[in-house]
Amino acid sequence: MQTTLPSLTIVSPCYNEEPMLPTSAPVLQNVLERLILSHQVADDSKILFVDDGSQDRTWQLICELQQHNPLFTGLRFTRNYGQEAALMAGMQTAQRHADLIITIDADLQDDPSLIPTMVAQAQRGVDIVYGVRNDRSSDSWFKRTTANGFYWTMGNLGVNLVPNHSDFRLLTKRVVTALMQCHEDKPFLRGIIPQLGFPSTKLYYKRQPRQAGVSKYPLRKMIRFALDGILSFSIAPIRAVLYAGMTICGGAFLMLIWIMIQHLRGAVITGWSSIMASLWFLGGFQLIAISIIGEYVGRTFTEVKHRPRYIVQADTYSPNFQSPTVS
Ligand code: UDP
Ligand code: MG
Repeated sequence: MQTTLPSLTIVSPCYNEEPMLPTSAPVLQNVLERLILSHQVADDSKILFVDDGSQDRTWQLICELQQHNPLFTGLRFTRNYGQEAALMAGMQTAQRHADLIITIDADLQDDPSLIPTMVAQAQRGVDIVYGVRNDRSSDSWFKRTTANGFYWTMGNLGVNLVPNHSDFRLLTKRVVTALMQCHEDKPFLRGIIPQLGFPSTKLYYKRQPRQAGVSKYPLRKMIRFALDGILSFSIAPIRAVLYAGMTICGGAFLMLIWIMIQHLRGAVITGWSSIMASLWFLGGFQLIAISIIGEYVGRTFTEVKHRPRYIVQADTYSPNFQSPTVS
């Protein structure tokens, strides 16, 4: 029986990846060509590099790759919008044409040799294949510890994440179509995708160190990313502030009763230090409480403006496609 082969698009976000692309592009090309030759995917399958507003020669390299081999295509943002926006744009563009979409970082820290197994799993009817690291030894102690703290926090907030999974995954077209219905300004993909509820499986691999270039996630960006994850998925921090406020008020009330009893007994109550300590503690606590609420208000503010998540400057994925450049 003749069945039509699924068309695959490999989406890879790139931000200043000039040092890395000459290594990673041939690796991805090799994997895809083998899949095409072994008739596992259709011969119109593609690699889509999303240039997230790089300041180096990343876009020129993508264009040169496409000139030599039409397997390569590109999407270019007007400026740097962030990895999640680049992934969303890549998937949104790829779904015009592809049945299966794989996202993988351009630095090939994730194992591209897993791609054929991902495709095989999809052909068995699985809609989401998560690449999961079984070894984080290539990460620093600090990154491992903070990552564990993040998963622990998210777990306690009731958010269903796949531990040690980053953005290396396969999605079928119907998952991407469902994902595109999530219109939030900063989509936290690692949280949203498991929530969509499609059949999924995991494949384990060892994450390699970055071979060239530098990480685009300094500490400041990592903290922002973790906060985005927590605050876009849960209002538990506001509730935690409420409980802490109630506990402090209860404690203050008990203290008041104790002070009154001491007063009636005629005891002289000295206590400059304790007053100062509670004053500073309460002042600090109130600032934290207000800023937590402010974070949610700020997010609502950004969300209601409905500004585009990203603006595309150039699209060579399907050049004849007439699309708005704004999404
Ligand atoms: N990236 C991006 N936009 C950004 C930051 C990163 O498209 O603003 C891309 C980057 O080029 C890479 C992937 O996202 O392909 C992961 O970034 P990186 O390897 O720097 O993260 P790390 O592995 O250090 O967490
Ligand atoms: Mg990396």
